[in-house]
Amino acid sequence: MKKWNIYKIFNQENGLFAGTTTKNLKNPYAYSLAIHTGENAQKIKLNRDEFSKKFPKNFKFISFLQIHSSKIIDVSEYENFNGWLESNIEADGMVTNKKGVMLTILTADCLGLLAYDSKNKIIGAAHAGWRGTKQNIAKNLIEKMQKLGAKIENIKVALSPSIKSCCYEVGEDVAKNFYQYSDALVKTGEKKWHLDISIVNKSQLMDLNIKEENIEVSSICTSCKNSDYFSYRKECGCSGRFISYIGMDF
Ligand SMILES: [Zn+2]
Repeated sequence: MKKWNIYKIFNQENGLFAGTTTKNLKNPYAYSLAIHTGENAQKIKLNRDEFSKKFPKNFKFISFLQIHSSKIIDVSEYENFNGWLESNIEADGMVTNKKGVMLTILTADCLGLLAYDSKNKIIGAAHAGWRGTKQNIAKNLIEKMQKLGAKIENIKVALSPSIKSCCYEVGEDVAKNFYQYSDALVKTGEKKWHLDISIVNKSQLMDLNIKEENIEVSSICTSCKNSDYFSYRKECGCSGRFISYIGMDF
């Protein structure tokens, strides 16, 4: 389990599983875990079985159909399933106060947010591309956790590896949504920018008064580190997806 927990802020949290998978180095596609990307479904199922075996028996896994929205679903009452719930429900995040439920986010360049209030035992996970970031999905995630009783001062958030400004070129149509986050944008030419959405998400979390020391941003760029992480841009749109996960042990 340790090898997938790349987040220092979750190191000391007993009873929490949280991390981000990488490609298997022997077989680059061994740990692709998304059903919706048109890859061999049989193989993905085997990968998911392999992944879920790393956790205690009877853990449940949830993934939604991610659509670049800012919709967050409370899955606390989701009980009538075993194994992996691959839902056709469209959403880009989830929260729960239930133990034994693994919230999963599938990405290749987009950002995964993993959030935890250890005092009140509430977790959340979200998927943020530039569209979700523009809609401030980070805020929706935290507010949904607060509805379950989470407190801002307790919440820790890890931001997964994502494509960074070294590699993520965008046009004016995208950049214009983020002009107020000057740290996240680098102008590289006439109507050309490079964008880092992890910086925007961190700002949005700090706007909610989440303490800076409770936010960990992975420094890894998925495009630069394509040997370890799937990158939609680097692999010309045909990449697999790695998973960022968070769940509380029984
Ligand atoms: Zn890069």
